[in-house]
Amino acid sequence: MKSIEQIAAELQGYDPQAISAERVNHFLARLVEPITATEGLGVFDALGRVLAQDVVSPISVPPHDNSAMDGFAFDSRQLRPGEPLGLRVAGTAFAGKAWAGSVGPGECLKIMTGAIMPNGLDTVVPLEFVKTEGERIVVPPNVVGPGDNRRLLGEDLMAGEAALRQGQVLGPAALGLLASLGLPTVKVFRRVKVAYFSTGDEILSLGETPREGAVYDSNRYTVFGLLTRLGAQVIDMGVVRDEPAELEAAFRTAALQADAIITSGGVSMGEADHTKAMMKQLGDVAFWRIAMRPGRPMAVGRIDEAGKSAVLFGLPGNPVAVMVTFLAFVRPALQRLMGASASEPVLLQARSGEALRKKPGRTEYQRGIVTRTPDGALSVRTTGNQGSGVLSSMVEANGLIVLHHGQGNVAVGDTVDVMMFDGAI
Ligand code: AMP
Ligand code: MG
Repeated sequence: MKSIEQIAAELQGYDPQAISAERVNHFLARLVEPITATEGLGVFDALGRVLAQDVVSPISVPPHDNSAMDGFAFDSRQLRPGEPLGLRVAGTAFAGKAWAGSVGPGECLKIMTGAIMPNGLDTVVPLEFVKTEGERIVVPPNVVGPGDNRRLLGEDLMAGEAALRQGQVLGPAALGLLASLGLPTVKVFRRVKVAYFSTGDEILSLGETPREGAVYDSNRYTVFGLLTRLGAQVIDMGVVRDEPAELEAAFRTAALQADAIITSGGVSMGEADHTKAMMKQLGDVAFWRIAMRPGRPMAVGRIDEAGKSAVLFGLPGNPVAVMVTFLAFVRPALQRLMGASASEPVLLQARSGEALRKKPGRTEYQRGIVTRTPDGALSVRTTGNQGSGVLSSMVEANGLIVLHHGQGNVAVGDTVDVMMFDGAI
């Protein structure tokens, strides 16, 4: 495991007082070490989990050539351009049962979708294209060509071919693919455990009586939602008051139980509280001012307790800053911790419906609403007030407009990048 000092030395031009958003991710990729412990799970239980091995297909899918349509299978060498083809129906093949008879020249086989194509037959003419006269059919000219409507053995996967790679997050399609290979169980990395708590004497837990100057805790709930969507096992540690003994106990308990700790609040400049001091005392922690908006202050590092080590993400206190720093930094870092292969978020491009003021030299994430204009293009406007405490705007938005580090002002109609929330929020 590398220390903060070692990682800092590896990153050229590292300045904790003005670190760029991009460099934060580089730093975190070095700080976080993926989980290695695995477990075997049934396919139904593996949704959202990270595959811990490459999966090689033990069988070919489909296992034999079969019909893609309900129709008549025949040998296409009998087709003549521009001429109808008359054929006698030799029998019927159903899906799931091999047909035992033989089909000679001038004959065809009535065949259902998914039924095995007998040897020598390579083409299926769909039922609705043919004229039937008793035991005979006529294939009109130019309705099918050789090989049409035949699915080939192994066209999905051949036996021995790589079906899924280690690090793949198992979504619905991957579950179906595993099952299609006849695999009842799959090896995945164990779930990542993340403990989180909110800090600050002004933070009320739900159920507490409001008092002057106090606000209800929202960060624990957004963090809970974000972590759950990511597939993490969550450990909710509540609100921790600004008391050294309470903070110390919370950090130690969290480090003992979890792979990662997420706190919110108490990391800004000039904080009169004890959160930063306790992080410094208990762990190897860097305190950053990130060249970004919102979410400038952040602490990252590691806290060890009784031989166990947990990665620490000390997020800012403001509710929108918490969500933005989570999406921009914590989420990719946790995906790495979970053993998932790196996947950069795909940014959409949309035309800005308004002028945006932006200073080069920092990354800005503005809450955006992307819509489709009548001409089919994507357009984005902001939710208005971009205050970092305006959580309602995160509900209203469907993505974040990403104004990159070097970018300046945006004029109406300029193209901007948008990170869509998708399933993350
Ligand atoms: P801090 O970084 O601790 O100074 O917090 C910055 C701002 O975020 C302050 O206005 C806090 O009241 C607010 N804040 C901190 N933690 C939370 C929380 N858990 N829920 C809602 N607001 C919070
Ligand atoms: Mg505070």
